[in-house]
Amino acid sequence: MTKDILDDVPSAEFPTMYGNFRIYAFKESSFEHLALVKGDPKGREDVPVRVHSQCLTGDTFASKRCDCGLQLENALLYIGGHDYGIFIYLDQEGRGIGLFNKIKAYELQDKGLDTVEANEELGFECDLRSYDVVAKILGYFGVNSIKIMTNNPGKISGLEAAGVKISGRIPLTVAPNMHNQSYLNTKKEKMNHYFG
Ligand SMILES: [Zn+2]
Repeated sequence: MTKDILDDVPSAEFPTMYGNFRIYAFKESSFEHLALVKGDPKGREDVPVRVHSQCLTGDTFASKRCDCGLQLENALLYIGGHDYGIFIYLDQEGRGIGLFNKIKAYELQDKGLDTVEANEELGFECDLRSYDVVAKILGYFGVNSIKIMTNNPGKISGLEAAGVKISGRIPLTVAPNMHNQSYLNTKKEKMNHYFG
């Protein structure tokens, strides 16, 4: 029998520089997702939620090739400063292509391809994320509706298709720098991301 990700959910107190959270772990076969929960969002409407796909290079090393690190920081600052909210950290490195292939894609980008072209060149779809697991995790916390923190309309439609009730959007604004300007332009032009 396949184990459901909600069968065993360890959690612990999790004080951070962004505020005091409770951390939860969800195991989905070989993937390990995390949720940082501020306060008690159970039964609430308009719960601020960030769904963040793991980006080791951006989140941990503050890479300037993307804007993930700053988005992570802004989202945690926002949620940490509110009474309740949820930060979901999906174990889906590089939009699902994995770390090794992400560096391969960077190598191709250094040769002149953009992020979407580089992933296609490697045989990957533009975005492999599945939102069913997010719907399950939000269901676990019993939220009624969420305000999603994103600039990505694909994320909103993906979550809605998975059955998540979205009552609004909180923009995540990150200032471009000389290294990520072309990455941000690609996101805007090819992936229809909102800016501001
Ligand atoms: Zn990134």
